[in-house]
Amino acid sequence: MLSDYHMHCKPYSPDARDSMADMAKGALRRGMTHICVTNHIENCTQSPEFPDQFPPFDDWAALWRDFSAVREKYLGRLDVRLGAEVGAPHYLPEEGRRIYARPELDFVIGSVHNLRRARDFYYLNYPEDFENFRPAVEQYLDEYIELSRSGMCDALGHIGYMQKYMARQGKGFDLMLFEDRLRTLFKACVERGVGIEINTAALSDALGEFLPQPSVVKLYRDMGGEIVTVGSDSHRAEDAGKGIREGFELLRTCGFRYVCLYKAHKPEFVKI
Ligand SMILES: [Zn+2]
Ligand SMILES: [Zn+2]
Repeated sequence: MLSDYHMHCKPYSPDARDSMADMAKGALRRGMTHICVTNHIENCTQSPEFPDQFPPFDDWAALWRDFSAVREKYLGRLDVRLGAEVGAPHYLPEEGRRIYARPELDFVIGSVHNLRRARDFYYLNYPEDFENFRPAVEQYLDEYIELSRSGMCDALGHIGYMQKYMARQGKGFDLMLFEDRLRTLFKACVERGVGIEINTAALSDALGEFLPQPSVVKLYRDMGGEIVTVGSDSHRAEDAGKGIREGFELLRTCGFRYVCLYKAHKPEFVKI
């Protein structure tokens, strides 16, 4: 059993290269047994100051048609489910709740890609002295704490996201510097039944590491966290399922015995 619970496809994710059918094909080729397609929905982070944000999504009919055809095609070979990666749904709570309640979605990843009234971390130039960036990381983790209490997502996406882009600029930091905040966050997750994802995309990037970093995954486990998904965050068919085996290995190392699939926002625990 191998599950990839984070992938994007065109035309729903503007940064994706391949169709949903091709992503499924790529995942099957890499040995996946279960996938969840999670396209970007950035409806809650729209800002006139930052037009580089992905446009809002609302074509549920087209997405559902596409998904139904792919699910049908792979029936019995690959379990295909539909989810979404929603950018900071708690920034616009009414919209965040509306998306979470869509009947098409089995699973919602909540991801903070940008602070309020700021650009995606992808676009930032990071300071030489980390101290100048520390408040941004604090604010970033505070947003995840709020998100985990919001009821607008099932799992938290790629905690430590900016580490991926800092590494491309030869910079970095240990997220465990913020252990107090991480403890507050994971306490909220455990109380609320919110999971975390092990995102494998940065393994093959400059960072060369999981997000969140293994010591943070271990902290979640040590605090009683049990709900985890693993996702490649792939945007091309050849990357579907990439790093998933390694992600499962990390889970075992950290003491997890189950990985989660989702149906109607309810975690299904599968032995690993
Ligand atoms: Zn993301
Ligand atoms: Zn993603």
